[in-house]
Amino acid sequence: MTLPGDFQFSQGSLQDLVDCKRRFQLRYLLQIAWPAVPAEPYLENEQHLRLGALFHLMAQQHTLGVDEARLTAMASEEPLAGWWQNFMQQRPALEGTLFPEAVLTTPFGQSGQRRLLAKMDLVAVSDGRATIYDWKTSRHRPPRTWLADRLQTRVYPYLLVQAGAELNSGQPFTPEQVEMVYWFAGFPDRPERFIYDAQRYAEDGAYLTGLLDQAATLSMSDEPFPLTPDESKCRFCVYRSLCNRGIAAGDVNELDFDDPEPMVEFDLDFEQVAEVDY
Ligand code: SF4
Repeated sequence: MTLPGDFQFSQGSLQDLVDCKRRFQLRYLLQIAWPAVPAEPYLENEQHLRLGALFHLMAQQHTLGVDEARLTAMASEEPLAGWWQNFMQQRPALEGTLFPEAVLTTPFGQSGQRRLLAKMDLVAVSDGRATIYDWKTSRHRPPRTWLADRLQTRVYPYLLVQAGAELNSGQPFTPEQVEMVYWFAGFPDRPERFIYDAQRYAEDGAYLTGLLDQAATLSMSDEPFPLTPDESKCRFCVYRSLCNRGIAAGDVNELDFDDPEPMVEFDLDFEQVAEVDY
């Protein structure tokens, strides 16, 4: 199946393309919903996913001005209660105009119809500078090198420069005006900050376009996309039995630094999204 002309790329789909081309094909082009769990114990993983999603919702509501006491009452179980206490006591100083759950999108590639899009937990704009905040509820605190390699760290700042003018009174941000901060709900005193610059912006543009070209070229053939040679990536992948890479799900306690939602892609209908929607 060829890559649709109006395909929407996100950091999640691009990360899949980098991690395993076959996973990208199965999930986004063939849209196969394979009946397997990503990790065991299933219920424990589901609970972590649910609480992580709830934490993000509470953080968004807090930014929008919902009463703290009402939100705190929602955090009755662990680890959410601890995450929320950390957020209340040790969250970054959020200054300027705040845009929670900011959705940005821009044309991507030569066809002009494919898009690159992202939903950012929070963008704070102050004195013409923008900080992207990403709340993490993962079990482990990843090292900087791991974060630096993630597509999220490349896509979000790139997209903010490309398409963030509406957050800045119509004035595009320069790369030097953008930074990204990961804040870990379980490790609140160890945030990670990435500053951006013109060189990085140019490198990211070339890299991301190269990934798009790769996907388009592979999809011109009817052959299965290559399976990742790194079989450790199959342990938490729902397609493992389809690929003959085993049948047992990985132990959730051995999940590395990924978010606890490794198999979930947020679903946005572009028809419902303007250039900027928050
Ligand atoms: S099981 Fe492994 S080879 Fe198959 S799609 Fe998943 S990561 Fe790729």
